[in-house]
Amino acid sequence: LNGYVGFHNLPNQVHRKSVKKGFQFTIMVAGESGLGKSTLINTLFNTALYPSKENVELTNETPKTIDIQTISTDIEENGVQLKLTVIDTPGFGDFVNNEDCWRPILSNIEARFDAYLEQENRVNRKRIVDSRVHACLYFIAPTGHSLKPLDLEFMRRLTHRVNLIPVIAKSDILTEDEIRGFKQRILEDLHLNKIQIFQPPSYGNDDPETVQENKEIMARIPFAVVGSDREVESNGKKVRGRKYPWGVIEVDNEEHCDFVKLRQMLIRTHMEELKDYTNEVLYENYRSQKLAAAAG
Ligand code: GDP
Ligand code: MG
Repeated sequence: LNGYVGFHNLPNQVHRKSVKKGFQFTIMVAGESGLGKSTLINTLFNTALYPSKENVELTNETPKTIDIQTISTDIEENGVQLKLTVIDTPGFGDFVNNEDCWRPILSNIEARFDAYLEQENRVNRKRIVDSRVHACLYFIAPTGHSLKPLDLEFMRRLTHRVNLIPVIAKSDILTEDEIRGFKQRILEDLHLNKIQIFQPPSYGNDDPETVQENKEIMARIPFAVVGSDREVESNGKKVRGRKYPWGVIEVDNEEHCDFVKLRQMLIRTHMEELKDYTNEVLYENYRSQKLAAAAG
C-alpha cells in the first residue's frame, strides 16, 4: 500500500471490500470529569449516526474497569457501512489517586491489542474482529492557560499506544482570542514535552482539494469543541447549541467551534490513516515488545 487514501476517496473495489467486511472503527474519550465527554459522544452520535435508539448497544465490558462503557452503532457514511464504537471512560476526578488516572485507560487499550493478537495467532484468521482503539480524544479543561501536569502525564503515558487527538472542552466559555492563544500554548507544551499527537501524513499525489481540506482540518488542532444534545432557537431556527444571554453558540457552525471539523476528520477524511497508523505502528510496536519480553 503506497500512499493512503481518504475514506471518501476509496477506490470502488476497496470500497466494496470494506462494505463486505464491515468497517470497524473505535474512538475513546478521556479526560477530567465534567468536561463534557459524554455529551460530546451524544453530539457525535446524533450527527454521525442516524440509527434508531434500539440500534445502539450499551455494554459494560471488562469487569476490572467497570466504569468504562462502550457504545456501538452501525452508521452509513458516503455509502459505506461502518460499525462505530465509542468508549467512554470515567473522568479522572473519579479516582482515589489521580496520579494513576491513565492506568485503567492504558490497560483497556492494551487489552484490546491483546485480543487482536490472540485472534491473529489462531489457525483460522478469517473473521478477525478489530476492537482496537483507533483514536483517543483527550479533553483539555478550558482554563485558557496551558496544560496541567496531569494532562501531560496522561498523554505521555498514552502517546505510544494510541492516536491522541487533543480537544479543548467546552470551548464556548472562551473567547475567540483566548482559544487562539490557548491552542498555541497547548501545542508548545506538547512539543516541549515530546508528546506526539496524531499527525496525518500528506502525499505528493494528493489533489489540491484534498490538500486544502487537510490543511483546514489540521489548522484546527487542538479542536475547540462544544457539545450539546439539545436544540435551541437561534434567529428563528432550531439548532444544536448552547444558549447565552448574548447569543447562541452553535455546535454545527464552523465559525463557532471545531466540532464539524473534528467529526469530519474522524469519520470522513482521516479514518483510514487513523486505522493504518494504529495497525502498522502502534499495534506493531506493542506486538514486538510483547514478543521480545516473552522471549527474554
Ligand atoms: P463528562 O463527565 O466529561 O462525561 O461530562 P458531561 O458530558 O457529563 O458534562 C458535564 C456538564 O457539562 C453537563 O452539565 C453538560 O451539560 C455540560 N457540558 C457538556 N458539554 C459542554 C460544552 O461544550 N459547553 C458547556 N458550557 N457545557 C457543557
Ligand atoms: Mg461522562
